[in-house]
Amino acid sequence: LPVLAVIGRPNVGKSTLVNRVLGRRVAVVQDTPGVTRDRVSYPAEWAGRRFTIVDTGGWEVDVEGLDSAVATQAEVAIAMSDAVILVVDATVGITETDAQVVRMLRRSGRPVVLAANKVDSPAQEGDAAALWNLGLGEPYAVSALHGRGSGDVLDAAMAILPEVSAVAAPSPAEGSLHRIALVGRPNVGKSSLLNAIAGSERVVVNELAGTTRDPVDEVIELDGRQWLFIDTAGIRRRVRQSRGADYYAVLRTQGAIERAEVAVVLLDVSEPITEQDVRVIQQVVDAGRALVLVNNKWDLVDEERRTMLAWETEHDLAHVAWAPHINLAAATGWHTNRLVRALDAAIEGWTTRIPTGRLNAFLGEIQGATPHPLRGGKQPRILFATQVQTAPPRIVLFTTGFLDAGYRRFIERRLREEFGFVGSPIQIGVRVRE
Ligand code: GDP
Repeated sequence: LPVLAVIGRPNVGKSTLVNRVLGRRVAVVQDTPGVTRDRVSYPAEWAGRRFTIVDTGGWEVDVEGLDSAVATQAEVAIAMSDAVILVVDATVGITETDAQVVRMLRRSGRPVVLAANKVDSPAQEGDAAALWNLGLGEPYAVSALHGRGSGDVLDAAMAILPEVSAVAAPSPAEGSLHRIALVGRPNVGKSSLLNAIAGSERVVVNELAGTTRDPVDEVIELDGRQWLFIDTAGIRRRVRQSRGADYYAVLRTQGAIERAEVAVVLLDVSEPITEQDVRVIQQVVDAGRALVLVNNKWDLVDEERRTMLAWETEHDLAHVAWAPHINLAAATGWHTNRLVRALDAAIEGWTTRIPTGRLNAFLGEIQGATPHPLRGGKQPRILFATQVQTAPPRIVLFTTGFLDAGYRRFIERRLREEFGFVGSPIQIGVRVRE
């Protein structure tokens, strides 16, 4: 069924409007922002059409502040809906939060109907007209409370709601080249690896029709497929390491990571893992990019070093144990052909999308088997979850209370066991309903 979401700032009358559609009082509609109900989506029918209506109205109290709550709510609604009714309180007029939500909606490309609510009498219609300024077309004057005009806004919503839902469909395959950054501290072997894999096949990007972007990038063919390697000029240019150059290298690394989909972090296994290695890895995770770890210079590893390395890896890199980790020797070409499989795995994990139904069913199972520990006589529960984004995956959990860091890690671990997410950080947002 197509999904219609009703969003807007707290207390603008979303739930009242949803109740009009549902034709019964499912929700306890309060006059103050806050709780309405546990569910978010309901089967609905209007003008003979069946659809799912999403009311995020119950999720508006947020520990991080109102604006972020509304933004999250809009993010969620956008991710899970085919069309949106944006409800604005006409007696208040346009707020910065409304404008912010409009920008998000516009970026999403979802069709929107604008409801100017609380127009309880014809004398107030001027208030509604002022909302033309949001740039969403005609504001439908509504009094959700009295029912006035709500039929018109719902008819308009039916006109923009597609017959068939697109939100459950997988995102279309991207035709463009995957973007890879090779990063790591100086002398770990980045340029050696680049030379090993580029061979004679390398093409500087600005020579390749249609891909001209940044002349520091190169297209490299691996396994018969083309990949865009980011900022390879920075790798090829051997900079003498002075303090200044070091700072420059850090900036350059940051830039390459930002532009990439997958960052390949090289480690020199002939030396202990350093703080700088860990920092580069953290940069990748913080940027939300897919991560592949490479143990380079494997030819220099003996039995003793191998044992040490296993220990170091367990201690320093446990938090990224989800990343593909391959051993190779760039200088000799040994196992460099394993890079492609790791890249593919990481991209797949990074773009994984879990349907909302499956996600909630799974979280229900987890909580049934292992509920959150009791805290002060209360037990925080996850009521609803949805993946609002891929690349990287971002999941928002709506809960009845704060989740302990330990429980959040447990959830992440179970999600990885169930759904993979190989090579990808997972961003988990928690919204507490009070
Ligand atoms: P970059 O600064 O990360 O680009 O590192 P380079 O590619 O310039 O490599 C630094 C040094 O490590 C050079 O002397 C390379 O020859 C050496 N090196 C790179 N890869 C390997 C490897 O797999 N095995 C060995 N033994 N040496 C390597």
